[in-house]
Amino acid sequence: MSQEPRRLSWQEYEERMIGELGVRAARSRGRRHPEPEHPLRSPFQRDRDRIVHSRAFRRLEYKTQVFVPHEKDHFRTRLTHTLEVSVISRTIARGLGLNEDLTETVALAHDLGHSPFGHAGERALDGLMKAFGGFEHNLQSLRVVGELECKYPGFSGLNLSFEVLEGLTKHGAAGAEPWLDEAALEHRSRPLESQIVDLCDELAYVCHDLDDGSDSGLLTQRALGEVTLWRETLASIKAAHPQLSGSVLRQYAVRTIIDRMVTDILTAVPERIARARVRSLEDVLAAGPLAAFSPEMTRKFGELKKFLMENLYTHPRVMAQNERAENMLRRLFAFYLENPGELEHYAAGYRQARPVPERMVCDYIAGMTDRFAEKEFARLMR
Ligand code: MG
Repeated sequence: MSQEPRRLSWQEYEERMIGELGVRAARSRGRRHPEPEHPLRSPFQRDRDRIVHSRAFRRLEYKTQVFVPHEKDHFRTRLTHTLEVSVISRTIARGLGLNEDLTETVALAHDLGHSPFGHAGERALDGLMKAFGGFEHNLQSLRVVGELECKYPGFSGLNLSFEVLEGLTKHGAAGAEPWLDEAALEHRSRPLESQIVDLCDELAYVCHDLDDGSDSGLLTQRALGEVTLWRETLASIKAAHPQLSGSVLRQYAVRTIIDRMVTDILTAVPERIARARVRSLEDVLAAGPLAAFSPEMTRKFGELKKFLMENLYTHPRVMAQNERAENMLRRLFAFYLENPGELEHYAAGYRQARPVPERMVCDYIAGMTDRFAEKEFARLMR
């Protein structure tokens, strides 16, 4: 006898899977432009799908994470970084009984506002926009999902749930954009789902930069010997698998470090929650930051970050690439301002309330991929 497969509604799924500290889509504060509910997907699932189907998301494939010279096709891009943040955050969200859909959605959107050429591009645009409110990639992510992606008939932007917007306000954003005031970002702290994404963003980039940095030869094994986490991990792997060497050993070490960090978070966060006597979502929002490594892992993580800053992010080869990229964006910016005809196609679909030409040029350049910026530079600066 065949049985009808029983479908679990998203409301039932949330009730079963999400603990007291998680955000429930069933109690979402809604969207700026109210929309009828979808029969199958929760509001956060819809938001996730809107992000994956956005242009800004697809462009992440051709945006640099760290400007390590792109010699190998398996080096990370903003897209693969985003996917790593997403899978690691989801593991932790599930482990802590949080809303996995919200966590995944915030993770997939967290870098949509990144300009081409990583932080070098961000620095160049911020310098050019000093008199007009500056440029910061987290705020730009909000602009992308709030205004710049245009594909729906009734509004510009993706009209995401307020909880997702809140998840993207990493360093606070109230008042940064006129439409954001409506997002009611009234909490002192953000839900654990967003805090977890912030932590996993750092975790992911530190670990994959360690991997790509050593693969590229910019980080030598000798230099890496200074890093406690690396030394400890290599020693434990060599004890269990003495035959491992070379690239396999290195990749397995990075994988083991990620595992140690995730395990650490899954122990440290519940301890912090218990100490702070946090028992409800309301308590989370009043408690201040709860998502962090243990004190011991915080120290080791800090040491690794400092090592990467001194040996990879400021490596002469990386610095030379950054300087070239910043220069390229500065020249493109000046060119578009002087030749608005080049941006007619963009201006036609640009629905901003009070656009200054500089902001439009900045949004245009910020949306570029590295390879499109290179192509435009070659075309216009001959
Ligand atoms: Mg990131």
